[in-house]
Amino acid sequence: MRLVLLGPPGAGKGTQAAILSEKLGVPHISTGDLFRKNIGEGTPLGVEAKGYIDAGKLVPTDVTARMVESRLAEDDAVDGFLLDGFPRTVEQADLLTEILRKKDVALDGVVQFKVSEDVVVERMLARGRADDNEDTIRTRMKVYRDETAPLIDHYGDKIIAIEAEGSVEEINERTMTALGK
Ligand code: ADP
Repeated sequence: MRLVLLGPPGAGKGTQAAILSEKLGVPHISTGDLFRKNIGEGTPLGVEAKGYIDAGKLVPTDVTARMVESRLAEDDAVDGFLLDGFPRTVEQADLLTEILRKKDVALDGVVQFKVSEDVVVERMLARGRADDNEDTIRTRMKVYRDETAPLIDHYGDKIIAIEAEGSVEEINERTMTALGK
């Protein structure tokens, strides 16, 4: 299956993606994880991305899209993937469509994790990642509302909406059911 996971920062996409990846047998491709790996290794891409990430802003689309395209070209992603963190804007969604069209494939669906703002702020403060301070969280929530939420309309009937408050297991079961698995 070729799926995009959509939801505000702190919605639990990464946690659900790890479980879904195992159950569906497709790789979990997280742009946040790819950036953090590059930052850790001090690659040129990591150096470029770090300032944006620390400020809670989006990394420029050309940099991000190139990183995603090369990851999608790896063997394990040929038959399917879970994309977590990309696309985050309508512009990125159009680029993804283009990347997939060149491979003669398309998305099977877009899983939208629905969760209230109070819950996501609580979850992010609890996980305490380097970019999880209150200012950055507020910036990322605004970026989500302004730039990412419009993807819900953009994807229209490709959207598979999941109520994402509850236990990790409950949310996973809801998702598997919604995917017909
Ligand atoms: P969260 O889901 O909590 O926002 P991520 O790990 O997905 O965390 O992303 C962390 C940061 O990485 C984002 O705040 C942003 O700076 C950068 N980033 C991730 N994906 C993208 C993307 N598709 N386009 C631009 N920047 C991105």
